[in-house]
Formats: sequence, structure tokens, C-alpha cells
Amino acid sequence: MKTDLITVPGTIGLAAAAGPWECVVVGAGPAGAAAALRLARNGVRVLLVDRANLPRGKVCGCCLSPAALKELTLLGLEAIAAGAGQPLKTLALSSGGWTARLPFRGGVVISRERLDRAIVEAGCAAGVEWLPGVDVAAATVGADGAVAVSLRGVADGAVVTIRSERLILATGLVDRVRGDADDRVEPCSRGAGGSARCLIGVGTTLPADASDLPPGELRMRVGLRGYCGLVRLEDGRIDVAAALDRAAVRAAGGPVDALLGLFDNSPDAGGSELVASLRAARLTATPPLTRRAPPSSWQGRILRVGDAAAYVEPFTGEGIGWALASARLAADTILQGAGGARVGEVYAGAHQRHFVAPHARCRRVVSWLRSPALVTAAVASARIVPGVAARIVPLFVGAGARGGAS
Ligand SMILES: Cc1cc2nc3c(=O)[nH]c(=O)nc-3n(C[C@H](O)[C@H](O)[C@H](O)COP(=O)(O)OP(=O)(O)OC[C@H]3O[C@@H](n4cnc5c(N)ncnc54)[C@H](O)[C@@H]3O)c2cc1C
Repeated sequence: MKTDLITVPGTIGLAAAAGPWECVVVGAGPAGAAAALRLARNGVRVLLVDRANLPRGKVCGCCLSPAALKELTLLGLEAIAAGAGQPLKTLALSSGGWTARLPFRGGVVISRERLDRAIVEAGCAAGVEWLPGVDVAAATVGADGAVAVSLRGVADGAVVTIRSERLILATGLVDRVRGDADDRVEPCSRGAGGSARCLIGVGTTLPADASDLPPGELRMRVGLRGYCGLVRLEDGRIDVAAALDRAAVRAAGGPVDALLGLFDNSPDAGGSELVASLRAARLTATPPLTRRAPPSSWQGRILRVGDAAAYVEPFTGEGIGWALASARLAADTILQGAGGARVGEVYAGAHQRHFVAPHARCRRVVSWLRSPALVTAAVASARIVPGVAARIVPLFVGAGARGGAS
């Protein structure tokens, strides 16, 4: 689909980005845009940079968990989800030829184009200077403690180096900004929970008529090679987001065939239109999903938020909520620390305390997925035992989701 680019009021060009800045935020996904918004609201001079222009798509299931909705409310942006979002009503979970249709409440579906743009717009309204179409290649911290950030215009290759008191990296799974010896990213050489399976994300959006999927239904398929979710977005398009075994993608000859393999042998496969649309679609793939990097380096001069700091896997649909929460923790630490040297230590501690339990729970859930027989048994019993459904449903959009018998 061709989408017109949007110029958000507050957009500046590379020539106007000279600074100096109190904070430069790289990446305008939920993590970066929310961190920039919180800082700007508190009077910090913030530059938000992204290599993409708005609206930009993202491989994502587009489901906001109850925790993500709570974070949006804390940001004062609950109207985004309440206005454009489609409330989730049903989870159709398929595995091994069985499908269980479960009542599913507490989450909302919204396209990433809409969500990410709305947070950036709120930031610009609060005073964030927004610089799209610019790639950040490197960052170094000088003897005076200032961060030198190297910017490169995506369209014309123009290079500018700017200075900032602090840098927030919200670059998602694709983290190429380097400059620090202890800045080691730990991508998954193995999968979540130490299993041999390493998953990558694959996604696309399909035309409205590609499936009969009703609004408010999350159709989820779990198979040997990974899992895939389908939802109808607010504009009618079908969002497809999958986590697929990297080795199986290679063995299948590419993501399309690996994805279609998930739809085999199912009476509820979605029909020939869906298969034809998937074959014709342009799929986007991500790097390995499970990763971890230091939340802080250079004594807090450089902080990481969102997926850039840590991500597990998308099965429990919590990444956006985690991104917004880490942005809150980072911004609050900076604001309370007022430039002090302990900002990095305090943020790293807060990050660890906040995420250790949810990440561990997500790892436990995804290790359960490694046993297709177990998943199939759970789906089969959820069709007849209401108590099983009530236990399965919250796994998909985190704590706060409500399931139960239909
Ligand atoms: C298959 C799949 C399904 C998912 N489903 C869900 C779901 O249903 N619900 C949910 O809550 N989460 C889901 N997630 C997770 C969610 O998408 C992420 O956790 C979330 O997008 C993280 O936000 P972020 O701001 O950290 O990063 P991102 O949203 O990835 O944003 C990073 C931004 O940084 C920019 N950038 C990167 N490097 C540079 C650079 N060097 N210079 C300039 N700009 C740069 C990119 O252009 C991008 O705009 C899913 C993920 C996958 C892979």
C-alpha cells in the first residue's frame, strides 16, 4: 500500500539540528517517542531522530495489552486507543488441526502507523523537535561528558555531528549505534529460555478482502516452526505478524513458505484468498527477537529503552507496554537525577527490577510453546473446559486480560 508521508508540526531538517541538546533520542517507536514526550513536558530540550518518516510500518501484532493501555493513560494518551483502537473480543487459537475460540477481553488493536504517529505528535506538541529521515551511525562520549552524535541524512547522505548532554537509544531490535567498548549487545544465539530455537519476526499487512476475519478477533496459529497472529486493523487491513524459527525459514527457502507452513493441515486456515495475498505480499523480517543490551553505559550518558534494552518474544504481546514502561523509567530517572552521575546506575537498577518478573514469565510461556503436543492438548481442552480458557487467555496480552467460557 502506498502511504503519503506526513509532516508533523515540530518537524525540523538536518541543518536546524545543530543543538546543543539536553537529550537526543534515537528511534521514534513507542519507547523513544514516549521518552522524548515525557522529557519535553518537563522542560528538557529534546531532539527525536528516526531514519524513517511517518507513517512507518513495523512488524508487530498491533495488540495493546492492558499494561500498554495503562502506560498510555499515564502519558495522558488514552484517547489514542479509545478513539482508533478496536477492542479485542475473541481469541481463535489453532494448533495441530484444533481451533479453540475463546472470549478475550482487555486488549485493543491499533495499527503501528496510527499509534506511533500519535505519540510523536503529542511529543511535538509538548516541544520535542522531530527530525525524520536521519540515521544515527555512531555516538561517542568526550572527556567533558558530552555525547557527540553522528547524523546522516537518509535521502542525501549529508553528515552532521551534534552534541547532547545525554543520548537515549530507542532503536528497537536493529541496534547499530556504536562507540562504547562496554556496549555489548547479546543477541540470541539460542532462543528464549536457552532453547535451541532462535526466532525472527516476519510481518506484513494485507488488503481488507484477504480474509473474512471479523474486527476484534485475534487469530493465532502455533506450529512447529513458530507462531503467527492475524488481526483486522482500524482501517480494515489485515495485520500479519509471525515469529518464525530462523533455521526453518532458511530450510523453507524464505519467510513466505515458512509462514504458509504454519497454515497447513488446519480446517480454519483462512482460505485461498489469504494464501494468495500472502504469496503476493511484501514481507518484512526482523533480526533475532530475543536480545539484551546494557540499559545504561558511559555512566548514564547513554541509556537504552524499549527493545534496544531487552526483548524476549512476541507471543505474550507485551513489547509495546514494555517499551512505554522503560521510557517512563528512563525519563523519570533523568528528571530526578538532574544530570547527576548516578543516573545510569539508578536506571539500570529500576529496569532490572521492573522487567525481571515479566521477562521471566514470558520466557516460561514461550518455552511451553516448544512442545507442540502440549499446545495442541491445551487448545483441544480449552474447547471443552472453561477453566483452561480462562488460564490461557491472559498469556496473550499479559496480566489483566480476561478470558473465560463463551
Ligand atoms: C512478530 C512480532 C509481533 C509483535 N506483536 C506485538 C503485539 O501484538 N503487541 C505488543 O505490545 N508488542 C508486539 N511486538 C513487540 C513490539 O513490536 C516491540 O516491542 C515495540 O515495537 C518496541 O518498541 P521500540 O520503540 O523499542 O522499538 P521500535 O518500535 O522498533 O522503534 C525503533 C525505531 O528506531 C528507528 N531506528 C533504529 N535504528 C536507528 C538509527 N540508527 N538511526 C535512526 N533511527 C533508528 C527505527 O526506524 C524505528 O522507528 C511484536 C514484535 C514482533 C516482532
